[in-house]
Amino acid sequence: MLRSTLLKLSDSKSLAHWVTSNATTRRMSHRFVAGETLDEAIEAARACNDAGMAVTLDCLGENVTTPAEAQKARDTYLGMYDRIAQEKLYANVSCKLTQLGLDLSIEFCEGLVMSLAERAAANESFLRVDMESSIYAQRTVDLVKRVRAQTPCVGTVIQSYLYRSESDVQDLLTYGCRIRLCKGAYKEPAEVAFPRKADVDANYVKLMRMLLPSGFYHAIATHDPRMIAETIRCAVEKRISKDDFEFQMLYGVRTDLQRRLVRDGYRVRIYVPFGQEWFPYFMRRLAERPANLGFFVRNFFRS
Ligand SMILES: Cc1cc2nc3c(=O)[nH]c(=O)nc-3n(C[C@H](O)[C@H](O)[C@H](O)COP(=O)(O)OP(=O)(O)OC[C@H]3O[C@@H](n4cnc5c(N)ncnc54)[C@H](O)[C@@H]3O)c2cc1C
Repeated sequence: MLRSTLLKLSDSKSLAHWVTSNATTRRMSHRFVAGETLDEAIEAARACNDAGMAVTLDCLGENVTTPAEAQKARDTYLGMYDRIAQEKLYANVSCKLTQLGLDLSIEFCEGLVMSLAERAAANESFLRVDMESSIYAQRTVDLVKRVRAQTPCVGTVIQSYLYRSESDVQDLLTYGCRIRLCKGAYKEPAEVAFPRKADVDANYVKLMRMLLPSGFYHAIATHDPRMIAETIRCAVEKRISKDDFEFQMLYGVRTDLQRRLVRDGYRVRIYVPFGQEWFPYFMRRLAERPANLGFFVRNFFRS
């Protein structure tokens, strides 16, 4: 119930305006967001690299309404690739298609994604296309397949809460696509997504067991110790090397677990988001763990 309310509120423009212009909530956002500028994100990325973890940088923003906004986001991403190279960071980039104009036109969006994939290839890097709500799933899979046919350094994300994900995994694997597996962070109806957490988790394990032995380099994105233990068990059972996949976690979430996996010799990549459009991302993080909300409310009234 609380999760659902928080996810609904994440679409509210007036709440977003109030929260992102309030000095206290802006400070509190730093729990999950590296900062509002690329410089702050670079600093956070360097700290992750120094701790033995790779990074994927994301400039927050979604559902732009004009081509100019989408082009501006594309230019920011191009600049991020160059900055990563200049700073010699072990990092790549994650983007959202609705930030690159998917709501305006798929062809227009595809052109922008193609230019990012080309820059990723030129810089020997990688572009991860995040998965947003289920209304975008088919267009995301189709677009990624088309861009991948031109340049292979692009991959996408599969959400274990969607019924369709098993067939998407089968489809994407035939293209050799690198996949990040997550549970899914949006508010979805029971017609498209498993309503029960136990089913989402069971599907996560099933999909992970399809990905890991596939011979391609995938990312297992979760903070759930049970999903991590199942992944390690599968890798041991199938003799898959620790270098043939990576765990991914979000900036500021379960840093203890992040460090433990690095200590145990696993590859770990941290998703480091930054930018001024942090409100929907921040609300999704609160929704994932309602205890976070209590923490923020207490700190807000204390400050
Ligand atoms: C690198 C990465 C990229 C992602 N990309 C996408 C994407 O493209 N599309 C998409 O829909 N979703 C994405 N997600 C979010 C994902 O779908 C889940 O919503 C999120 O990871 C929580 O699920 P979980 O696997 O950690 O398991 P859960 O069952 O939600 O959580 C397991 C445990 O992890 C801890 N935990 C989880 N979330 C939090 C939090 N916010 N604060 C504090 N503790 C927490 C708690 O201890 C919790 O008990 C991404 C997640 C990661 C890690």
